[in-house]
Amino acid sequence: MSIRTRFAPSPTGYLHIGGARTALFSYLFARRHGGEFVLRVEDTDQARSTPESVQAILDGMQWLNLDYDEGPFYQTERMDRYRAVIETLLATGHAYHCYASKEELEALRAAQEARGEKPRYDRRYRDFTGTPPAGVSPVVRFKNPLDGEVVVEDGVRGRVVFANSELDDLIIARSDGTPTYNLTVVVDDIDMRITHVIRGDDHLNNTPRQINLYHALGATPPQFAHLPMIHGPDGAKLSKRHGAVSVMQYREEGYLPEALLNYLVRLGWSHGDQEVFTRAEMIALFDIAGINHSAASINPDKLRWLNQQYLKTQDPAKTSVEFSWHLARAGLSAESGPAPEAVIRAYADRVHTLVEMTEAARPFYASLSGYDPQALAKLDESAPSILDALRAALGDQNLWASTEALDQAVKQVAETLGVKLGKVGPLLRLALLGHTSSPSLGVTLALFSPAEVAHRLAALRAQLAK
Ligand code: GLU
Repeated sequence: MSIRTRFAPSPTGYLHIGGARTALFSYLFARRHGGEFVLRVEDTDQARSTPESVQAILDGMQWLNLDYDEGPFYQTERMDRYRAVIETLLATGHAYHCYASKEELEALRAAQEARGEKPRYDRRYRDFTGTPPAGVSPVVRFKNPLDGEVVVEDGVRGRVVFANSELDDLIIARSDGTPTYNLTVVVDDIDMRITHVIRGDDHLNNTPRQINLYHALGATPPQFAHLPMIHGPDGAKLSKRHGAVSVMQYREEGYLPEALLNYLVRLGWSHGDQEVFTRAEMIALFDIAGINHSAASINPDKLRWLNQQYLKTQDPAKTSVEFSWHLARAGLSAESGPAPEAVIRAYADRVHTLVEMTEAARPFYASLSGYDPQALAKLDESAPSILDALRAALGDQNLWASTEALDQAVKQVAETLGVKLGKVGPLLRLALLGHTSSPSLGVTLALFSPAEVAHRLAALRAQLAK
């Protein structure tokens, strides 16, 4: 039987990193086994689902390049199917109408609490055969088995046993006829022939109820694997106060999708002490047995480190797609400066994010807005003549054949003038970039055209003359 997994987000917000990790693990497991990965949007909660959230999920999946083989399916398009299943469950005696009013249930709860009991529905309509109260639209409840136990052989948690006596008769259709989560998820996972459900362990308590529903529908439950939560660095449940949680916010902060995926795969899964995984390696190595049993903590420093690894080692042509997005976002046009690939090669070991790279690259794509005043203050009376000599030496376009030739030409200027390179270098950088830190002089010069170098040297020279 071919392996089929799914990612089933509820579109009630952006795609957050916990969701993205669930999607990634489900994707990897399917790919690893040559199976299929399905995307299903669980949008039946009309009050909380929004089209913007649906789009945010689709955008996040696309940016992370988590391609699905089927879907997106939308639960709101499957309402007739759920209704039919609810009718079947009623007809086969696995479900019943419950007419208890809100007030009745509140009174029941208050009485149970007063007796120190755990509040729960007392199944008062389970075997009801009388005349239903007038004017009440009933909910439909599932007839959960009264005794025995449900064993979840969880891929991460191991064997988890639930007593049926602890599970109440859950509502599968609200009084307006709309189905609830536990019903729709089971119907869909059956219809979509899902073999492995990988999801957050906040759903573990739903699993025994769902397994009972499978049995009532004559279906075999899938294998379950419940992923431990993701915590902030302080050990508390991950929240906005720990920084970015939305996948697209990580994009805005300058992370590469490949680096974020690599980071996510290590949030709760390990393979020895390997940290960097290509996608092919992730697919080849991922297994449920490697999922950690305890909560994973986010580690922003590690993400920054990983991002730089990818900036340094990934094909710059690939990185440039993302880098160009950042340039555009910063109001810079890739056409007005060097090829983005060249900037990536020059700056990968100096920055950790594409936002930092974009800031560093600004002088290559836009004219200078001014010069670092501290650097200007350090210049002495030799600066104008050094600038003149640089302009003369760098007037030879043939130097642009190699960064070594450019480096050599600058060294030559220092030698000819009898000044230290430590004086020429900062001045040249100041003229080109407006500040004095950059990769080697040859590499920096090569990112400009000869004409632009001449222009910027002249501009600083003019500024000094004032
Ligand atoms: N829609 C559910 C959620 O977003 C997930 C359901 C599942 O994976 O079974 O929490």
